[in-house]
Amino acid sequence: MYNKTIILRYGEIYLKGKNQKLFKKTLTNNIKKCLKDYDCSLEILWSRYILKCNDKDLDEIIEKLKFVFGLVSLSVAVEVDAKRTTIENYFSKIKTNAKTFRVTVIRADKSFPIKSIEFEKILGGYVLENNPNLKVKLKNPEQEIRVEIRDNFKAYIYDSEVTLAGGLPLGTSGRGLLLLSGGIDSPVAGYLTAKRGMYFQALHFHSYPYTSEQAKQKVITLAKKINKFCPSLKVNFVSITKIQEEIHKNCSPEYMITLMRRFMFRIAEIIAKRKRLQAIITGENLGQVASQTVESMTSTQDVLKQIITLQPCISMDKTEIIAVSEKIGTYETSILPYEDCCTVFLPKNPIIKPRLENVRREESKLDIDRLVEESIATLETIDCF
Ligand code: ATP
Ligand code: MG
Repeated sequence: MYNKTIILRYGEIYLKGKNQKLFKKTLTNNIKKCLKDYDCSLEILWSRYILKCNDKDLDEIIEKLKFVFGLVSLSVAVEVDAKRTTIENYFSKIKTNAKTFRVTVIRADKSFPIKSIEFEKILGGYVLENNPNLKVKLKNPEQEIRVEIRDNFKAYIYDSEVTLAGGLPLGTSGRGLLLLSGGIDSPVAGYLTAKRGMYFQALHFHSYPYTSEQAKQKVITLAKKINKFCPSLKVNFVSITKIQEEIHKNCSPEYMITLMRRFMFRIAEIIAKRKRLQAIITGENLGQVASQTVESMTSTQDVLKQIITLQPCISMDKTEIIAVSEKIGTYETSILPYEDCCTVFLPKNPIIKPRLENVRREESKLDIDRLVEESIATLETIDCF
């Protein structure tokens, strides 16, 4: 027998009309997968899940559920039979330290014989009897005691709510490829995309031996954290050392980053196609650095043939990105000071507003297809879970 009951609420799936079944099935599977290591049971109701577990696992389970997209909130509740006398009996024993309170009754089971407002007054009366200094306050009370009478002949009583991630169940919006650097923005971009239901794999470009083994380990550590909200995460590592050396040798230095990013996007599209991933996700942010002006982004996207890019951080302020990064637990790792491939052969004056014809002219000095092919040949895929 379990001694804790959690009532779980889902959000936007309500709006999904005919697809609702599919969304709910995916959400149910995701909850089960997330809790596979715990002894617990999941009951599916019309618009709620009822999860039962043991007290010792409660805190850990709540932490895990914060990363299940599609769930909006939860409450740890007391479950009683949905009978008037049973509920009244429970209320007649409530003791509280609050000064003001209200009772809210939610009747999902409309066959319950008393109307919600009437029942609220009755139950409130029991609480007042037991707590002589307590006052009723309908707006912003210190304590709100809620009773949900559900369609399984049970009632759930609770007085607090934990906010969960919201969004759509992971897997209901296709599959993408996250360009994962070691920085702050790209894990956040992954989180925000997964939150809208897109499952992803990651792709990291390194410039070994210019970048170190520690830089790679940092990406693996980040990936393990990302795995919390995008389980079974695979990270693809590709070397772009040769490409950077060739650009450095043959092209004008201010185009280094622009050209390197064009190669990254070409390679990303090919890998995405091979792995049947439908979009490239990046942590790009308008105006953040020289490579993220509208002209720079135009010149990198120029190489893409048949794939879209998603840039969920595009309009966020750095402080907003950092707040998400802290919430999802990637910030501490992201700020570790290991070098990224973008810092190798970094030009003094990178071009800020490149013109496409000049970029193409610089690039024509290189054997593009051969370099792309050689780079993809270095692909190494690691399971980060
Ligand atoms: P981040 O944006 O992750 O904080 P950053 O700001 O240093 O790192 P930028 O140079 O701004 O990275 O690059 C913009 C985006 O390009 C990154 O968010 C990421 O999606 C992608 N990117 C940059 N470097 C790499 C890399 N080494 N491997 C894979 N993707 C990368
Ligand atoms: Mg960035």
